[in-house]
Amino acid sequence: MSVSNRAFELADRRAEEERAEGIRRVQQAIRAPINVTASPFCDCGERIPDDRRRAMPRATRCVDCETFIERQSRRRA
Ligand SMILES: [Zn+2]
Repeated sequence: MSVSNRAFELADRRAEEERAEGIRRVQQAIRAPINVTASPFCDCGERIPDDRRRAMPRATRCVDCETFIERQSRRRA
């Protein structure tokens, strides 16, 4: 096998592994229960999407607010 073929094979395998890892993560996120005790609404009144609540069961804010607050606390630190 030539060197370039070997490189292709390795890149191929890595891509395959990354795909499998991505699928695993998605399956985990789908299986994870939604935290029903937490409010599905952010402080700003925006509804937090179900897939976000599955991925982060303790998320109490929408993406916009979370990003905003993260940026604020980083500035303070
Ligand atoms: Zn919000």
